[in-house]
Amino acid sequence: MWFCNPSFGQDVPKKVPKPDPLEELKGFTQTYYYSPGHQGRAKSIAVLMESAGKYFQREIEFTPQTTIYILAPQDWKSVAAKPLHDVYGFPHNIDDVRLAIAAEDNDFWRSFLPPVEQLPPPMALQVKKAYGKTDGSYTMMPFFDLLALHEMGHSYTSQAGLKMHRYWMGELFVNIMLHTYIAENQPELLPALETFPNLVIGAGTAEFKFTSLEDFERLYPTLGMGAKNYGWYQCKLHSAAKNIYNAGGDAILKKLWKALQTHQEEMTDKEFANMLKTEVHPSVANVYLTWDKID
Ligand SMILES: [Zn+2]
Repeated sequence: MWFCNPSFGQDVPKKVPKPDPLEELKGFTQTYYYSPGHQGRAKSIAVLMESAGKYFQREIEFTPQTTIYILAPQDWKSVAAKPLHDVYGFPHNIDDVRLAIAAEDNDFWRSFLPPVEQLPPPMALQVKKAYGKTDGSYTMMPFFDLLALHEMGHSYTSQAGLKMHRYWMGELFVNIMLHTYIAENQPELLPALETFPNLVIGAGTAEFKFTSLEDFERLYPTLGMGAKNYGWYQCKLHSAAKNIYNAGGDAILKKLWKALQTHQEEMTDKEFANMLKTEVHPSVANVYLTWDKID
């Protein structure tokens, strides 16, 4: 979440020493440190990351070096970025190299799930299929696990020196990476990826003080909109990524990567939208032009 820490751009060693009491998963190209007892979760996340890494290497010809922490609650505070010390479960980049994700289900994930029996029946069915457990309870874990790829996406753009121009583009881009990888390679995971944003956006905006893209830009550096309101923005950007992929397929990811690599100059909002429309795809410009209509 999908948060990208402002310490980005600082020089960070590519191989970060393992903090105690974490353990290291061997046999993968990236570095994975996990809390004791969570080897299975670490492994399944590593398999997803490595498979995506191969796909992105083919598509955009770049692979960053990352260190991924899969953390139990007791190890969260000592590793997580400071603004998120108290929000266990909020996946984020600590810097260009290090990503933190939760190993266990938690209150933050649960806070997004309303009572399922009160949802409209078609939505309740979607939620049951995507997040239902055999014991009748629910977990958002299948969605949040995919966000490891979102976080890794930030390491791609920062380590490759792309200019994201706007905070919303920084977040949208990695959601396009995530959506494109899943749709092209593991479409069986699409319900887990799409249901959560559908659910959050479908619930409306009454709960949220901030909903405009201007507010997002202004409040992003300090997470000034609060963790949950930020989650709502991310859901809009996940839906936008889905719409973009559905409008133009995997070609958009490559075109957008190239455009953000090439255009290092400052642009006004209008110039930026125009560049996206003419050089990438109108659906990408529409995120800015028709933000309120994204669903
Ligand atoms: Zn992010």
